[in-house]
Amino acid sequence: IAAPQAWEKSVGSSQSPAIAVIDTGTDLTQPDLIDNLWTNPGEIAGNGLDDDNNGVIDDVHGFSAVAQTGDPTDDIGHGSHCAGTIGAKGNNGLGVVGVNWQAQLMTIRTMVNGSGTAADNIRALAYATKMGARITSNSYGGEYNEAERDAFANSPQLHICAAGNEHNDNDVSPYYPAQRPVGYPGNYEYDHIISVAATDSRDRLASFSNYGPRNVDLAAPGVGTLSTVPGGGFETKSGTSMACPHVAGVAGLIATLYPEASNEQMRTRL
Ligand code: CA
Repeated sequence: IAAPQAWEKSVGSSQSPAIAVIDTGTDLTQPDLIDNLWTNPGEIAGNGLDDDNNGVIDDVHGFSAVAQTGDPTDDIGHGSHCAGTIGAKGNNGLGVVGVNWQAQLMTIRTMVNGSGTAADNIRALAYATKMGARITSNSYGGEYNEAERDAFANSPQLHICAAGNEHNDNDVSPYYPAQRPVGYPGNYEYDHIISVAATDSRDRLASFSNYGPRNVDLAAPGVGTLSTVPGGGFETKSGTSMACPHVAGVAGLIATLYPEASNEQMRTRL
């Protein structure tokens, strides 16, 4: 992705933008992530109180939409891996580097053992909005849900979404929330959703990746991606789940350089 060229302009920021990783959670102790976690400025850790009165007790680094608590700890490592692609710390002599060397990674857990519900996704988007995330990274998907569509419509972030791993044409077999173009009936018709396919190391479409000239916006690396996992380790994983956070990471660099950019302007740059 020619990241070094981008890094001549920006390596991200430890101040902003907040990037919500809506996924299985994150290992909040991962040494290559710990310095780049978003921290809720209004919350005092571990005092058992909802200090900032946002409805969640001790939500210091994020939110579990599943349990509706302030502990978004990862169960299977998927979300930790995505978080590392967006923002594993750079130049610290450890593991990997994210697209952002510095970041504000807001962890929002919506999945248990890799699957979730529209209701949890809706709660996740509400939290991301309330707490000021600029970008969301969504490495999940499935069936259409009207309430979820409305939640995306009403959430002002730029939403980066995985295109899915069925090797389907998404123009024929829709996959949500990654469906996009305006005027395409039945889809989430919003310009602030970006759908990401996966490519391999030769820049070819990954064998598993969904595709679709109308509904998939771009592709990013998603085969054998090395990133952070719970327990302090690093592993390779493959999927459009791994491609999506590359794009969310680039969106983070754009938002760092151009904090006033609209979603449409960010979309154009991507
Ligand atoms: Ca709180």
